[in-house]
Amino acid sequence: MPPYPRSEERRSMVDLQIESRGIRNPKILAAMREVPRHLFVPSPYDRDAYADAPLPIGNGQTISQPYIVALMTEFIRPAPTDTVLEIGAGSGYQSAILSMLVRKVITIERIETVAALARANLAAVYADNVEIVIGDGTLGYPPGAPYDGIIITAATPEIPGPLKEQLAEGGRLVAPVGDRILQELVVLERHGDRFTEEHHGGVRFVPLIGEYGWEEE
Ligand code: SAM
Repeated sequence: MPPYPRSEERRSMVDLQIESRGIRNPKILAAMREVPRHLFVPSPYDRDAYADAPLPIGNGQTISQPYIVALMTEFIRPAPTDTVLEIGAGSGYQSAILSMLVRKVITIERIETVAALARANLAAVYADNVEIVIGDGTLGYPPGAPYDGIIITAATPEIPGPLKEQLAEGGRLVAPVGDRILQELVVLERHGDRFTEEHHGGVRFVPLIGEYGWEEE
């Protein structure tokens, strides 16, 4: 990735919002310093791209808070040989971060215009190891399975069964699980047919709409 403007803002975002809250993986910190979040945030909100907050990206959807992107990335323990599945491409920012850490990223988005935005944003930063799929991510994407990591970036009432099935042995999945208003981050790790489960802090995401998520309102 070429050097992008506003690097000083990114450096202070990482120092004050991410490293100071306990994210230690140097590769994740480096990716967050490098990927130009302001290119993933539509005007006029791009002004605030390095603030400690989610921001609107259109169609009632959001780009997640930088710290939450870093935290979810750390929970799946990305390795250079991994294939990672993301549900909810949104702006493409989470995928751009992942693209610097793993071999291949597949991201699913249900809204076509949002997927087009993610495609344009990812092309602008030359993230050419990211594949965007349009569809219901609660069903996963069997052609790319099994996945070493799965990140669900929308609120789900429970972890969709097809996604658990598509997780590799030893693979990790992170998702905001709860009701439509408040959720907690849940991390699963697969051991054969068993899944260990960790629960982390409270979060707020837009709903996951689909067969194994919520109904559209
Ligand atoms: N990861 C994104 C980013 O980096 O900008 C933020 C994602 S945004 C919080 C949640 C996204 O999930 C929205 O774009 C929404 O349209 C999408 N979404 C909701 N339900 C979905 C589903 N069943 N399959 C795929 N995408 C879904």
